[in-house]
Amino acid sequence: MLRITCPLCGERDYTEFRYGGDASKPRPAHGTSDSAAWNSYVFLFDNPKGSHREYWQHVLGCRRWLVLDRNTATNAVGESRLPREVASK
Ligand SMILES: [Zn+2]
Repeated sequence: MLRITCPLCGERDYTEFRYGGDASKPRPAHGTSDSAAWNSYVFLFDNPKGSHREYWQHVLGCRRWLVLDRNTATNAVGESRLPREVASK
């Protein structure tokens, strides 16, 4: 059973969360009109095997978004942080 630790609520079952996408891709800058960059950001995804940084939302809890390190091969969950904590590093 996959257990995810929310930085605000503590450890919970994964069914309380919703996957939100790849957190390792840099978002295009605000105001950019480069449609190829936005297309790549929104629609193109890698399918990595191993350690991966992902967005998850705690939909049945505090509803906050978090950044989670998860191994896609073993489902081992690493550290979870609020996105602003990741951005400030
Ligand atoms: Zn929470």
